[in-house]
Amino acid sequence: MPRILIRAGTIVGESRVFQGDILIADEKIVAVEKKISGANGLDRLVDAAGCEIFPGGVDPHVHMELETPAGISSDDFASGSRAALAGGTTTILDFVTPGRGESLLAALAARKAAARKSLCDYGLHMSVTSLGRDTADELASCRREGIASLKTYLAYKKTIGLDDGDFLAILDLARQLNILVMVHAEPGDMVSYLQKKLLAQGKTAVQFHPQSRPAELEGDAVQRAILMARLAGSPLYIVHVTSRQGVEAITAARQNGQVVIGETCPQYLLLDESRYLGGPGSDAAAFVMSPPLRGREHQAVLWEALAAGIIQTLATDHCPFMLAEKNRLAALDFTRIASGCGGVEHRLPLLYTFGVKSGKISLVRFVDLVSARPAKIFGLYPRKGVIRAGSDADLVVWDPDVKSTVSAAGQWQRCDHTVYQGFELRGGPRLVFSRGRAVFEDNKVHADPGWGIYLPRGFQPG
Ligand SMILES: [Zn+2]
Repeated sequence: MPRILIRAGTIVGESRVFQGDILIADEKIVAVEKKISGANGLDRLVDAAGCEIFPGGVDPHVHMELETPAGISSDDFASGSRAALAGGTTTILDFVTPGRGESLLAALAARKAAARKSLCDYGLHMSVTSLGRDTADELASCRREGIASLKTYLAYKKTIGLDDGDFLAILDLARQLNILVMVHAEPGDMVSYLQKKLLAQGKTAVQFHPQSRPAELEGDAVQRAILMARLAGSPLYIVHVTSRQGVEAITAARQNGQVVIGETCPQYLLLDESRYLGGPGSDAAAFVMSPPLRGREHQAVLWEALAAGIIQTLATDHCPFMLAEKNRLAALDFTRIASGCGGVEHRLPLLYTFGVKSGKISLVRFVDLVSARPAKIFGLYPRKGVIRAGSDADLVVWDPDVKSTVSAAGQWQRCDHTVYQGFELRGGPRLVFSRGRAVFEDNKVHADPGWGIYLPRGFQPG
């Protein structure tokens, strides 16, 4: 049974930051104390002086090897989870996305098989893309397999999106089964209408993408999703919130006592819609994602909402596609471009650099956003998301001063570009433990496909 002592680190706890030692035995943390002396039979001693120690990151929203009409996303479960570990994320939550009429359980089995090569621990959300005779029974079976969250789309009505009636019925079902409903809140019909209108006017270039999904639309869909969740008496998790309108709707609902959780992503905090204009050395199609990047005024609102605890999780919506693929479809028209960007590797250093180092959020808030809160919301806590005796030994020994520059050439993510190209980062993982094993050290990943395990999850409403 390997025993490892991490000595004299600055441990970021749930409500405070303190100096201390951490003893790991096998896959678990066995002690966290100011000073652990007399630990014998150690296999390894890590001197963490000058380093901060976080619980391993939990990214609650990624899409590895996602099949879309525009192609398969370029990171598979192995390459994407390797990049996650290299960036301090030790748990990812991905999605099962059955087609309409397809059995949820068959789709779950297929997705679990694909995910088996993951290097980091993983859980799955179920997507419900239609309501059939078997949906209730199948969701109950999924719940027994530890799928305690389901994703719905109000956008993409023609393929995977739900109408209001089905959305309400699913909210009811989810409440009965103790499953958290997640929603992609953009109004599908309005988006389709604007897309058609722009294309009819010959506005096919990437620069028109944001005009087909303006911020008011997100505001409307967030508001309506919240209203429907209230009617159904169900908690609601809103993925990738991008706008002032979205934040305002969530703020109002939370002030009303409704359980509404907001998520945002680094791209919406750090990149703005000017990227769609392209320019020298910049490929506008690389930035096509849905919802789109917004104006800078929205970024300031998102940052405030993070600091205030109104937006409670930072995910990535990691879903990269090769640039040639994006550009090939961009040449047809902007509506066909594979939507999404990578980021699972850079989530922690981006929020650390632009949130913690710039003084916008505290270290405790940082850990809450990237690890503790998603672990709690998605039923992984206290196994994940906290540095505590009995928890899995998922730990990041973080060098607060190391400098790096994001580049496509230097990333672990399997993609030929990154939307954060040239970003200068401060802070990064020196050493990452996943269930007691040093999986990232000296800029190398020391884990093989299959090291990650499936995490069944529960859900506690409220
Ligand atoms: Zn997504």
